[in-house]
Amino acid sequence: MKKLFFSVFLLTVLSIFKLSAQVLTWMNYANPQEREIFEELIKDFEESHPGVNIKLISVEQSQFAAKINAAFATNNPPDIFYVGPENIRFYVDKKRLLNLTRYVNNVRGAQFNDLYPNAVNKYRYDGTTLGNGDIWALPKDLGPFALAYNKDILRKAGVKAPSATKPLTFEEFLDICKKTTKDTNGDGRIDQFGTGLNRFYSMIQFIWGNEADYLDETKTKVTVTDPKFIEAVQFWCDLVAKHRVAPNAKEEQEKDPYFRWIEGSMAFFPAAPWDLIAFKTLPFDYDVIPWPVGKEGMKTATWLGSVGYGVSSKSKYPELAAEFALYLSAYKPTMEKMTDLDMQVPTLQSLSSRYTSKSGNPANRAEYIRIIKETGRSWPEQYTYNNSWYFKFFSELQLVIDGKETAESYCKRIAPKMQRLLDRAGKKQKS
Ligand code: CA
Repeated sequence: MKKLFFSVFLLTVLSIFKLSAQVLTWMNYANPQEREIFEELIKDFEESHPGVNIKLISVEQSQFAAKINAAFATNNPPDIFYVGPENIRFYVDKKRLLNLTRYVNNVRGAQFNDLYPNAVNKYRYDGTTLGNGDIWALPKDLGPFALAYNKDILRKAGVKAPSATKPLTFEEFLDICKKTTKDTNGDGRIDQFGTGLNRFYSMIQFIWGNEADYLDETKTKVTVTDPKFIEAVQFWCDLVAKHRVAPNAKEEQEKDPYFRWIEGSMAFFPAAPWDLIAFKTLPFDYDVIPWPVGKEGMKTATWLGSVGYGVSSKSKYPELAAEFALYLSAYKPTMEKMTDLDMQVPTLQSLSSRYTSKSGNPANRAEYIRIIKETGRSWPEQYTYNNSWYFKFFSELQLVIDGKETAESYCKRIAPKMQRLLDRAGKKQKS
């Protein structure tokens, strides 16, 4: 009997203790290096917030979307989780996210105002347009997608190094690609290519760089029949079949363009900050430059990706969870560590020179900061309710890449199909 009483007593004490602790769950995906830093940060936060316990749930990146959707479906979402700009509209409309606007300026130790405004704007939404209104998540990182070139290849081809700040024109870019594409052993097969760009990640820069885009300003009208759009797509596709300065489908299959770049047999290839750790051991010198533009005087532009920290609207401790999210986003000691380890471009403006003055390749790290501040854009489909209209564009693009159809014919016949899908997405949003 005594024993039983004691057990009940102990259980009660334990449960009271448990109730008094504020537990926040944080679901993310992270590589081992990131996880180590995150665990340190959790320790710092828990020490400065007695009674707070942060439970980290780390899943595989490929599993993340399924796991987070399951958590919401079963009404048991984590307090803090990753959310990308592409999901903000959907999440806000579904009332999954806590509005962070009123919390961001009340946090000790984290500098909201030091975050790049462009980065924060990716997570603003006013119920109609992404980029305006209240703040629904805080940037975890920024992915400025720059163009890199192999310095050794250009030097050997007798090509002057491109400017670090002034973009090449399409014509100049093509000229360098031609000069650096080579059959080095004379067997009739190309061994070194000028470039090798992915249609999903590295074609839009040429469209934007030719003053065109997929959508009009209202984000309701598909604009792929604009002559400047068509011109850019034709130029980009011609790199493969017409000019033979980029691998065709068969050559890509034989060797992925990424490996061609890594082994030093490709002159131009994209390089994002998350590539830099792997690129440290490249057997050649390289640097990053702005993406090409159609004609001199046109503005360069590229994709600026991001993932953010969102807080669940169901969190029991909204203020605390918002505070932790801001810590993750804008806590200087953490960001300094990540900058020093070259894990990402710092989200804090005050650390930009710490990043750009790092030694080694690429010397022109300032390009990443320029993309964040000036030339970076969001994917077109992030402004719309779903991406089916956007991916429709790529459904038969191979015909143009193979030189079997002109860009003009293709864009004109695919445009009405894209528009129908976009209209449908718009209706979905209203319903
Ligand atoms: Ca050859």
